Amino acid sequence: MNRKSCSAFAFAALLICLAPAAGARAQDRPSVTVGRYRLQSNPWVNLHQRLLYEAQVEPVKPPAGLSADGLTKWAKAVEDYRAYVGRHSPILNDELVRINDALAETNTDKLPASIPAAAKQVLEAAMPLYRAAQWEEDDRANRFWIAVAVPLLTSAGEELAEAHAKVYGVPFPTKILVDVTSFGWQFGAYTVGEGASAHSVIASTVKGNQGFGALESLMHEPSHAIVGSREGAIGSELKRASAETGLRPEASLWHAILFYTSSELTRRALARRGVEYEPFMVGMYKRGFADFRQALETHWQDYLDGKVSRDEAIKQILIETAPPRKK
Ligand SMILES: [Zn+2]
Repeated sequence: MNRKSCSAFAFAALLICLAPAAGARAQDRPSVTVGRYRLQSNPWVNLHQRLLYEAQVEPVKPPAGLSADGLTKWAKAVEDYRAYVGRHSPILNDELVRINDALAETNTDKLPASIPAAAKQVLEAAMPLYRAAQWEEDDRANRFWIAVAVPLLTSAGEELAEAHAKVYGVPFPTKILVDVTSFGWQFGAYTVGEGASAHSVIASTVKGNQGFGALESLMHEPSHAIVGSREGAIGSELKRASAETGLRPEASLWHAILFYTSSELTRRALARRGVEYEPFMVGMYKRGFADFRQALETHWQDYLDGKVSRDEAIKQILIETAPPRKK
């Protein structure tokens, strides 16, 4: 079966109908395309994300079932990766961005020459251990997440992409690669990309990303390719409002607006389908966004309801949430 024939089949068949590339193991390729999205569970990206998480965020239980020798080698891999990645952000550091992009396209046991030697050495040394002791469990969780996400995207993906484009006044990304993983850096998901193209990493094992939350994460994450802090959608409007009022926005205001937008649009799409859904924003009010709540629920909600213009809403939100000016 080829890729084109996939779209004609029910989603259950989608998970098994993509042919693996030459040299790849068949079980490595549960890649599914739904409209503008391609979702995959890739062992190299999963290994990289696991090591990155342990190197930068917190300790992780080593893969179960490793021998004493295997555990020693695994601990060394984590140490070596910690030395390699340092404190570099996988979103802002070009080399880490390129590594994740290249691993996402790797479907063989050999890594491409574009992977820097220091990373390649660790990944290639750790892969046999990961394959033997952990990959099956990670891949099972990822495939299940994908199996849940596909019908959500099939039903509501395009409707929501268009709704986001309308709210932001720019097209929603059209080429979205989603690597489904067991770890998604410190927040359980992140995205790199710009304009039409987005590469998201979404952790299948993080509670917030599961169930109907998968749909919101699949809208929130690619939004990062078009929304920015001082440029792109929201960012450039905040910059304008800031120049006009002389007020500096709180550093996370743009992200709170992004959260609010995907939360509210997903809530509406699910409500139209008979689902009462508690969006991410409810939790975010308890995790740092409390001070934005009133302004967002008043002015951004008015904008989403078509009562005021985007510029007007953003200006009012800025005025009500900006920190006091220093004398
Ligand atoms: Zn975000």
